[in-house]
Amino acid sequence: MDGGAPRPVAEGGCHGGRETMLEAARAAGKSAAMDRLAADYPRGPHDQPQSMCPAFGSLRVGLRMRRVATILSGSACCVYGLTFTSHFYGARRTVGYVPFNSETLVTGKLFEDIREAVHKAADPEAVDAVVVTNLCVPTASGVPLDLLPKQINGVRIIGIDVPGFGVPTHAEAKDVLAGAMLAYARGEAEAGPVARPRERADLPTVSLIGELFPADPVGIGGLIAPMGLAVGPATPPREWRDLYGALDCAAAAAVHPFYVACAREFRAAGRTVVGSGPVGVDGTAAWLEAIGAAAGIGAARIDAAKARALPAIAGALKAAPIDATVTVSGYEGSELLVARLLVEAGARVPYVGTACPRTEWSAEDRAWLEARGVHVQYRASLEQDIAAMLEVRPDLALGTTPVVQKAKEAAIPALYFTNMVSARPLFGPAGAGSIAGIVAAQTRGAERFRRMVAFFDGVGAATGPGYGWTDIPAEPAGFRDRQKRLRAARAKAEEAVGT
Ligand code: SF4
Repeated sequence: MDGGAPRPVAEGGCHGGRETMLEAARAAGKSAAMDRLAADYPRGPHDQPQSMCPAFGSLRVGLRMRRVATILSGSACCVYGLTFTSHFYGARRTVGYVPFNSETLVTGKLFEDIREAVHKAADPEAVDAVVVTNLCVPTASGVPLDLLPKQINGVRIIGIDVPGFGVPTHAEAKDVLAGAMLAYARGEAEAGPVARPRERADLPTVSLIGELFPADPVGIGGLIAPMGLAVGPATPPREWRDLYGALDCAAAAAVHPFYVACAREFRAAGRTVVGSGPVGVDGTAAWLEAIGAAAGIGAARIDAAKARALPAIAGALKAAPIDATVTVSGYEGSELLVARLLVEAGARVPYVGTACPRTEWSAEDRAWLEARGVHVQYRASLEQDIAAMLEVRPDLALGTTPVVQKAKEAAIPALYFTNMVSARPLFGPAGAGSIAGIVAAQTRGAERFRRMVAFFDGVGAATGPGYGWTDIPAEPAGFRDRQKRLRAARAKAEEAVGT
């Protein structure tokens, strides 16, 4: 195989230890790729991701695109988990898989199998691009996806390494794939004419970076319309040609602040990338000014946009004030924006934790929050999120699944950030109106929680009789010993047969 046979790493993955896997990847020729990941996605306090497998982020980006085929290369258990989760979230698309064993890793046959799978999938009638992802073990073993052909019959081939020991969150894995696609598309656009996006505004556009609730781009379009700007195709994109449209913008907006590789591509294309987002009155005013300046819009039109947007947002916040203490934690990247909106609506927010790292795109949000006494924790660990929530005992905890579970055990009303907060508008007047509704509905449940916790007090906490029993059922005398002896005899018999 080209590039030499990879070194097998049969053990490892989530439980193999990050240092061991990293060392193996470097020894197998992946130093440059690992350095890039380390620079883009700096480490957190814990050894491995604390949420789902990071590769789910990039997998989902590819699966949501039209005419893009997806192939995974990794351990069967990882691929099982990833495909299960992607279908749970409605992928409705085949996920290709190239299995391996120690022998195909040692001999380099895995790379040949991947190349064969890519050739099969690269049907220009059906797809514009094929995305191949190395999971932990193939990355640590140095399977060289960069040696795949760049295109086959006009179908682009994108090979990415998304190991759990190099990409700390699934949010950042989205950036790995979106950034790789933007880099490819930028190269195509620089080389000659490219396809026109399906929908193209006649006005100069602002490219939004981040997976937003569907109503948000529409709302943001309304906010920037007085400046003579329109919203362009989103990043991550919905189809390949959107990448050209996204790059061809007047300014890019890193509304989700962890898309480091994507921002690099926009900058390489000569575009200014603006951080933060249009949340609340302060956030929207600052964002409109920054976007207007980046797009070369005159002060009068920026003022016109502010004059139209700000009173509506202030009105929505005033109509539904929040009088509650809320802690916020999540791994979506929008946690700081949500916290800003909560604070503007009147909430007391002592703590916001995000699994994402500190980047320049959230600097303004951090400064704004810290000036109002909010503790901002980047790369927050589950332990930090839980400790903050238990210490504050808020009226509502917005958090990840384990934080919410812990909160409910402690009779604290809690809401799953990803499903409940990210699934509502956040920006402009619509966001201002929606956040109060969520908080009000949930904090009303506090008394119900207290009753439930009192009712179930002690249930499932230690050994005890189940429903319908008064005593703990007794174990038949000698049962465990008998079973132990039987197991030992069986093992001995099997040993004898084996020799
Ligand atoms: S690919 Fe994902 S599930 Fe598999 S070992 Fe790596 S981090 Fe864990």
